[in-house]
Amino acid sequence: MADLGVAQNTIQVLQKYQFRFQKKYGQNFLIDTGVLERIMTAAEITREDCVLEIGPGIGTMTQYLAERAREVVAVEIDKNLIPILEETLSTYSNVTLLNEDILKVDVSRLAEEKNGGAPMKVVANLPYYITTPIVMGLFEQHVPLKSITIMVQREVADRMQAGPGTKDYGALSLAVQYYAKPEVVAKVPPNCFMPRPTVGSAVIRLTRYEESPVRVEDEERLFAMIRAAFNQRRKTLVNALGNASELGITKESVAEALEKMQLASTIRGEALTLEQFAELSRLMGG
Ligand code: SAM
Repeated sequence: MADLGVAQNTIQVLQKYQFRFQKKYGQNFLIDTGVLERIMTAAEITREDCVLEIGPGIGTMTQYLAERAREVVAVEIDKNLIPILEETLSTYSNVTLLNEDILKVDVSRLAEEKNGGAPMKVVANLPYYITTPIVMGLFEQHVPLKSITIMVQREVADRMQAGPGTKDYGALSLAVQYYAKPEVVAKVPPNCFMPRPTVGSAVIRLTRYEESPVRVEDEERLFAMIRAAFNQRRKTLVNALGNASELGITKESVAEALEKMQLASTIRGEALTLEQFAELSRLMGG
């Protein structure tokens, strides 16, 4: 099968099937062999790997993965793409195609069935409208994973790897960094896709920690505190957490904990590191 990373070959397939792009599914297909190669290198795909690809489209990246991995499981929501994928991937015996919504797939069970429960790699050019639920779903459900190498909107990549005190730092940075080490590996302009997205893109690799760099008794409570802190970003931490009724804590108790940590009572959430959030959560009984 011709390399679909070459624009001409993608156009031919799209014309043959008279494929209509569906905006609601975030369909922007890659047409740049250099970018595809860089994704493969960043994900360090070898014959040992079982890879989950989310949203194969017409199978462009799937071909690259099938050439390098032991096994590829590709989950595509759009039923109109299935006959196309059956053709473009027909020469590969190591690809399983599932016509499903990734948000409804039990990925841990998939890892069990396809990889004996051993950690898989996720590689994808993600549909941007559901980047956060996909990534957080994989982490929070404790799916066995080595790494997630994904194309995302550039500003989302920036947020994932931002540190304290920067404008991009927020709940997403902390949630991602609790589970994984983020590294942006490439910036990708709109002309590498068909159709062109209106935003810039970036490839980011999230290498899953075997153990999180911080320890808390209650992960859910830590994340509830982080969300509350950034929900009211301009407020001091004392006010933001004290006002968040779901946490059931008083402003006084937050102020007391901050004092123990030798932090100013006027500090905002955006100034705290992940370790400091964890410490605060432990002091507040989580
Ligand atoms: N991997 C292809 C490529 O790089 O050319 C296509 C990437 S495109 C940005 C995103 C793909 O995800 C589309 O094929 C779209 O139909 C699919 N998709 C969107 N929502 C999905 C969902 N909830 N579950 C599975 N696939 C989804």
